[in-house]
Amino acid sequence: MKLVKFTRQYWFASMVGFALPFSSAWANIDIDSISQDALVKDPVIVECTLDNGDSASCVKFVVKYQPDNLETGPFCPKNIDEKGGVWNWDGEMAGLYQIDKGFLSMLDSQGYHFYDQDGNVNITDVRTTQPKSDNTCLQASVDKTVEMTVLIPVNPVKSDQVSDLGTVAKVGLALDGVPIFADAPSVLDTGHMPALDECGGHVDPGGWYHWHSTATDIDSVYKNEHLDIECGIKQKASAMFAYAFDGFPIYGSLEQDGKMPAGLDICNGHFGPTKEHPEGIYHYHASTTFPNLPTCLHGVVAKQNFSTTAKQGIGSANGPGQGGGPGHGTPPGFDKAAKTLGVTEKELMKVIMDNGGRKLDISAAAKDLGVTETQLKNALPKPPRH
Ligand SMILES: [Zn+2]
Ligand SMILES: [Zn+2]
Repeated sequence: MKLVKFTRQYWFASMVGFALPFSSAWANIDIDSISQDALVKDPVIVECTLDNGDSASCVKFVVKYQPDNLETGPFCPKNIDEKGGVWNWDGEMAGLYQIDKGFLSMLDSQGYHFYDQDGNVNITDVRTTQPKSDNTCLQASVDKTVEMTVLIPVNPVKSDQVSDLGTVAKVGLALDGVPIFADAPSVLDTGHMPALDECGGHVDPGGWYHWHSTATDIDSVYKNEHLDIECGIKQKASAMFAYAFDGFPIYGSLEQDGKMPAGLDICNGHFGPTKEHPEGIYHYHASTTFPNLPTCLHGVVAKQNFSTTAKQGIGSANGPGQGGGPGHGTPPGFDKAAKTLGVTEKELMKVIMDNGGRKLDISAAAKDLGVTETQLKNALPKPPRH
């Protein structure tokens, strides 16, 4: 088995002209580690450009809208008497909650009305429609035709600077073949709740499933926060969960020997031996608070490392690189605003983020867009009411 793997990797190496010895050229990424249930085709090694401008080789994984046999949901409960998934509430009484009557009525008392007088929850399928009221529970139906392409450097390179992982920033690719993103957008920003299931995942407006957590160790979070919730996916706190987009592996909250990891850095990573790398490697660990992901990346990622064939959403040709569609960075109404201003959604989002984001400097943003302040104010969607 080992020999087969060697031969295959060596073959890929020679295809792209690498003459490096096996041990250093293939020390890190195991291209056979991503689940066959998720792969559209065999992974290959391609040339790629890293974020620091260096040429490198990357593994190109093409995965399905979601792996075969993966059970997902529930996300939004139809009625407050039912139980939905989970939500990490960052307003008053902040914390991780099951989306149920207790939680939704607490939000109601804070002015966020997610259900009607019969207790029916406002739900929007953001793949096909726009939310009609100020506070809706967002969930998207899947698009079974969508494929996602992920590029991960074969030989991870540490960067001098760490890169923070903000809202829906790209974190990595799980060994199950599910992409991982940082925090889902806050209800405080959009008025809407892109509900997560009990494994911390949901469907992007583009129609594909992804996680906002270390799903194979999320029960440790529930335990830590005294919540009676369980993810149906097999849990193992010491197992490798994913490759981060910089190529370094992400493990659960414990070391191989069951001990707590020691000496973790600001990104929740450190150097040490793991089951897959007994010689030692830089790796990240999950935490036991939600979202239990590394908060920054220590290595260099590849440019254009995530794309989808979806019509909208993160990684689509039309969508912003880090957002896209309601529930994912671009607030509802942004498409219209961009059209009015004669720019793309992506360009508009960039100008807004460059000029203060939520605390927007209207005059600076208007200047960058070449419009007047009034034109910009009139074009932008009104902030959500609650
Ligand atoms: Zn998401
Ligand atoms: Zn460790």
